[in-house]
Amino acid sequence: MGARAPKPRPETWLEVRPAGLFCRPGGFFVDPVRPVPLAVVSHGHADHARAGHAEVIATAETLAIMAARLGAGCFGRGRALAYGEAAQLGEVTLRLAPAGHVLGSAQVVMEHQGARVVVSGDYKRQADPTCAPFRPIPCDLFVTEATFALPVFRHPDPAREVAKILHARQLFPGRAILVGAYALGKAQRLIAMLRAAGYDRPIRLHGALESMCALYARHGVSLGELRPATAGARGQARAELAGEIVLAPPSALNDPWSRRLPDPLTALASGWMRVRQRARQRGVELPLVISDHADWDELTATIGATGAGEVWVTHGQEDALVHWCRSKGLAAQPLDLVGYGEEDEDEPAASAEAAS
Ligand SMILES: [Zn+2]
Ligand SMILES: [Zn+2]
Repeated sequence: MGARAPKPRPETWLEVRPAGLFCRPGGFFVDPVRPVPLAVVSHGHADHARAGHAEVIATAETLAIMAARLGAGCFGRGRALAYGEAAQLGEVTLRLAPAGHVLGSAQVVMEHQGARVVVSGDYKRQADPTCAPFRPIPCDLFVTEATFALPVFRHPDPAREVAKILHARQLFPGRAILVGAYALGKAQRLIAMLRAAGYDRPIRLHGALESMCALYARHGVSLGELRPATAGARGQARAELAGEIVLAPPSALNDPWSRRLPDPLTALASGWMRVRQRARQRGVELPLVISDHADWDELTATIGATGAGEVWVTHGQEDALVHWCRSKGLAAQPLDLVGYGEEDEDEPAASAEAAS
């Protein structure tokens, strides 16, 4: 054997196409936004997991979430890949690694001719009892999300935020505590954290949260006793919900559904609650800064932990993080992928400007 061949530059084998990021020697897309022959899907949020692909490779949990949300026929063929298991696709070895974002969420690890690229997908480093923790994977190129990539975003201890729910309940025993939480991930994390804080009463659910909570329970995430919020027998639901914790999707906080609850005290769990103006806009009395995305410190620490010499930044606030990478001597560039930011906390860049 002669000298080792130089590693191929990532831009020679990873392309941005209209459908999304395409791995040419592997013949697959990562989180494509249009139907494709072969999709590797990082996790089940709607902006990453779309219907219509001929074949999907993902964790078994993500495949189950896709089928539950999009329908059993949402992809032609599903191929489950466990964390750490290798799949050979063309000239590329593919693995998935835990991303710590929601149940089944994965980083996409691709190896080609000695070069390793990791696409983070959405991720966080905070503890979450409902999914496997993120693990930094050494790589040459790290493609990172950037939802909260501004120094102003530093998420507080989530246990302290959850304690505020229990405190409010004690202060206002005659009111229902109505907590807005995204249906996939945030709701289950909140419930598990309430249980960890010792809260063992039944937790009431808006109907839109029931199927995902049941799916988590089927996958071994214990959430304790859950009951429908407003389907109480013979119209009893209203009064008996005083002093109870009720979870609903954020969109339901101000709609007529919530008027069926006794004097609801409205809370919302989102990284965006760091921006007070946004809490006011949404009429939230109790903002809870609980995020399933990495904050500024987590993003920068994770880039360092991967040892990557090159970083592509996508899916949020690219500029500040690109600048930070370059200041550390890393090659960095924004990666323009379209079609993300329609679920969970991925909101358009303009919405974070109020944070500064
Ligand atoms: Zn997500
Ligand atoms: Zn996302």
